[in-house]
Amino acid sequence: MQSELQQLNSAHHLQPFSDNKALAESGPRVIKRAEGVYLYDIEGNKFLDAMAGLWCVNLGYGREELAEVAHQQMTELPYYNLFFQSTTTPATKLAAKIAELAPAHMNRVFFTGSGSEANDTNFRMVRRYWDLKGKPNKKTFISRHNAYHGSTVAAASLGGMDYMHKQGDLPISGIVHVDQPYWFGEGQDMSPDDFGIKAACSLEQKILEIGEDNVAAFIAEPFQGAGGVIIPPPTYWTEIKKILAKYDILFILDEVIAGFGRTGEWFASQYFDLKPDLITIAKGMSSGYLPIGGVIVSDKVAQVLIDEGGDFNHGFTYSGHPVAAAVALKNIEILEQEGIVAKVKDEISPYLQKRWQELASHPIVGEARGLGMVAAVELVKDKASNERLEPDCKAGGVCRDFAIANGLIMRPCGDTMIISPPLVISKSEIDELITKAKKTLDDTAQFYGIS
Ligand SMILES: *Cc1c(COP(=O)(O)O)cnc(C)c1O
Repeated sequence: MQSELQQLNSAHHLQPFSDNKALAESGPRVIKRAEGVYLYDIEGNKFLDAMAGLWCVNLGYGREELAEVAHQQMTELPYYNLFFQSTTTPATKLAAKIAELAPAHMNRVFFTGSGSEANDTNFRMVRRYWDLKGKPNKKTFISRHNAYHGSTVAAASLGGMDYMHKQGDLPISGIVHVDQPYWFGEGQDMSPDDFGIKAACSLEQKILEIGEDNVAAFIAEPFQGAGGVIIPPPTYWTEIKKILAKYDILFILDEVIAGFGRTGEWFASQYFDLKPDLITIAKGMSSGYLPIGGVIVSDKVAQVLIDEGGDFNHGFTYSGHPVAAAVALKNIEILEQEGIVAKVKDEISPYLQKRWQELASHPIVGEARGLGMVAAVELVKDKASNERLEPDCKAGGVCRDFAIANGLIMRPCGDTMIISPPLVISKSEIDELITKAKKTLDDTAQFYGIS
């Protein structure tokens, strides 16, 4: 029997990234409240949220200071926009704070309401940049298969998700995709190092194929998130950096997941020693308490837009919304004051990764990998061949259902199980996460008759 709320939901709610028919039959979990790293549903079940919502609740749930700052800002100025020669105190202070934390060559922020809007902003800003540089043919964006850059038209096109492209005739023109550095999935016939170089070289081949004069930018996540926590072999970024140095194209690093501490650095640019022209931000920027995103713009790009561009005819009603900006600023201040990013680097992420590696010896795990505060396991039937448990990646869903039954939120990406917990997770909560993950793998193995 479904609850009244579930019935209302089935009747009136069309949910994102969901099979709404199947959902109406099973009835959604209704999440009611949360505290720290734990979620509680309406029936009182408790879950350890090893996904931090959708990779965003970096500070964990229930931080009163964020609620207070939102209340205060709503009382003082609930809304004003950044168009037409105005700004607000929170938006300006937030831009300055982000510039302070960002790589030294990046000192400006363009605000949006989400990560998708930020990547649509990149799409327009980069084309505007090349127009102003007198190179209007430089229009094509190169992205990677199985990338995730959001769900608006340009962002979904920049992304490399086939299952999204199939719906609505995407990608739009002017966006092409090259190899992803997914060694476990696509490179096991070579060493990870060789495969990393090969995947990187597909970028250079594409640049040569369409011609440097037609390429606007390369966009990539530092590690792929929604694609399955895909961590490039060490050679990959080294090789990409060489290629980017050879050609006059812009580099957009999508740090929507990686930014604001998830790697143990403020930005993955610092973690991987990359020098992007534009950085996409959202998610952890406000710990998800309110929606906000943006693009951090390098001096090189900003100078052209500002000195030569006149009006940039782009923006959103809620670009840098003052309440969201005030909450994001407070979120960043708490991350700083409590030394959370440094603690992630020195203590918490090494502990999480050390314990996560214990899963590697499990009979249905083909690989356990991670960095900072993200990690993944690949589910397989046979550790020697890495053959999957079932065709069509059904095992991921089976494993996810066992995780939920065990009080753990983990997410399947095909047959890859992934986590991205709040940065504030404690060692004892990590112990609980690992215990529950092991139990979930045991249950999944048993389901498939493997011991
Ligand atoms: C989530 C995500 C986005 C899209 O952000 P939204 O706020 O959902 O629009 C873009 N890029 C990456 C890497 C993401 O993980």
